[in-house]
Amino acid sequence: MSVCWSCEGQVPDGAQFCPNCGHSQRERNSSPIFVVDTTTELFNAVFAKAMLGQEVNRAVRYKRPLSALVVEVDHAEHIHRDLGTSQLNNLLKEIGQALVAAVRDTDTVAFLDSDGPPHYAIVLPETDAAGAVLAADKLRRSVASHDFQTGGNWQRLTVSVGIASVAHERMNQQDLITEAYATLNQGRMSGQGPNRTFTEALSASSTHLPLV
Ligand SMILES: [Zn+2]
Repeated sequence: MSVCWSCEGQVPDGAQFCPNCGHSQRERNSSPIFVVDTTTELFNAVFAKAMLGQEVNRAVRYKRPLSALVVEVDHAEHIHRDLGTSQLNNLLKEIGQALVAAVRDTDTVAFLDSDGPPHYAIVLPETDAAGAVLAADKLRRSVASHDFQTGGNWQRLTVSVGIASVAHERMNQQDLITEAYATLNQGRMSGQGPNRTFTEALSASSTHLPLV
């Protein structure tokens, strides 16, 4: 870990962008890339992809573990139907806060989209597939036990989580996102409830060659 020259937050070694403030660590004169989603105040999808790209490069180069999660809010069609736009936006922000509270300081939470079910991404540096399964499990439990204040009748929510880990040298940022969505959909199609374990997702990702 090193320290960001701008916000003094922790930056993973070799990372180009500070995960806290978005400033480039190499070019201090450049303005921070526009990183914030205005609804959730989380990092936006553009930044998430740029950051995940740099983290994948770092993980491959230094043979370090790296995982990514895609989090999908369950029952989104009912939530969309029940809530007006501003109430929904407040709930999306509160869900983001719950996710941030459930991960480590070094993990990065971003908002991806809410065109269909809302999706969030979480980048987990220095985390292998087994660690990602644990993180996903903790995340789901944490959200499921949270009393949401902004969602009207939706005080209790659950999320589904897709997992992907860097597992071979050709894996890039898009591969990781694609695999995370694939494990998300596999879990859903298997008909398991919101408290399912991620053994299946883990065995799916372990078919790749190990990184080290
Ligand atoms: Zn910073």
